[in-house]
Amino acid sequence: MILENLEKHGCEEAAFFYDKESGLKAIIVIHDTTLGPAFGGTRLWSYHDEEEALIDALRLARGMSRKSSISGLDAGGGKAVIIAKPEQKTEALLRAHGRCVETFKGRFITGEDMGIGIEDAKIMRKETEHVAGISEEVGDPSPFTAHGVVCGMRACAKDIYGSSNLSGLRVAIQGVGHVGYNLAKELHKEGSELIVADMREELTKRVSQEFGATVVSLEEIYSVDCDIFAPCAFGAIINDETIPKLKCKIVAGSANNQLEENRHGMILHERGIRYAPDYVINAGGLIAVYMEIKQGSMDEIMKKVEQIEEKIGRIISVSKEHNEPTYEIANRLADERISDKKKELERSKKA
Ligand code: NAD
Repeated sequence: MILENLEKHGCEEAAFFYDKESGLKAIIVIHDTTLGPAFGGTRLWSYHDEEEALIDALRLARGMSRKSSISGLDAGGGKAVIIAKPEQKTEALLRAHGRCVETFKGRFITGEDMGIGIEDAKIMRKETEHVAGISEEVGDPSPFTAHGVVCGMRACAKDIYGSSNLSGLRVAIQGVGHVGYNLAKELHKEGSELIVADMREELTKRVSQEFGATVVSLEEIYSVDCDIFAPCAFGAIINDETIPKLKCKIVAGSANNQLEENRHGMILHERGIRYAPDYVINAGGLIAVYMEIKQGSMDEIMKKVEQIEEKIGRIISVSKEHNEPTYEIANRLADERISDKKKELERSKKA
């Protein structure tokens, strides 16, 4: 089952870890390191079973390789998952995980993800230097991710409405956690009208008070009358059940693996809804932590994050020209860069 799943997702390696003292149960997946070391956050989640955890790590790791590739970074993709409930997160467990990361000797570089914050990442860092996104300057990658999403939204708006100005557009944000909050903040400055949903009332209350957002229920967020639907909570939310409810012309948000299946990207395309491929539009955080390691300045980071607008714009034009869904074009561009590099490495080995 494990090797079959590695083959299905095209992953190089999956390593399983158990630490007796802390109770850590973790899986680290390396998808591809052709372009450079595998970047991928660590997710702590109460998975039902090991298979669910492995599949999540494999899918996320593949997305990370594509994200690194399409963002033009000399980096590959990986992911770590810790199978635990939030209350099981202890210093001993995080340090044990740091030691697992260290076994890769820099072939895998990790950071935050769902269930793991900056303080947790700093604890892992006590055991390995291969933890990114914790410096004073860059810190939390979420504002960079949110900024990239705004840039991607501009490209979509330019295509649908003829202008990249987001002022006056109605944006429905699903999930106002780290990224969703920062997205709401930027969009409010742009003059967009906000509609939000989150199961955590204190978070919706904050965006309502600070940015005048209208709060709707978890169910209503799919069907509200809006220009842009921004999924910023969890994956697989573009599916058979939700697509018929959508009234938007654009789907552009930060969540990873938004399409439940590829065919849902095709359905959006057929309905004339512009879908900004998730790993292209949500690459701002990865770009920031990658540049942090490369000691890039804040100006260089912002410049690279803002290239997301041009990238999404290019994907949309090819999509229209060839009548192909945007996710297919993004996958092709990302996979091509990796296979070109593989060929180049083969040639130099032979020479
Ligand atoms: P987060 O945990 O801070 O925020 C997610 C929010 O979604 C939470 O407030 C949660 O209560 C809410 N939520 C959960 N289920 C919901 C539901 N059914 N309806 C509405 N809201 C719901 O996470 P985040 O860091 O803001 O990331 C959001 C998404 O973006 C995730 O899918 C993450 O993988 C992805 N992402 C994040 C970054 C980053 O820089 N943080 C980078 C790339 C991708």
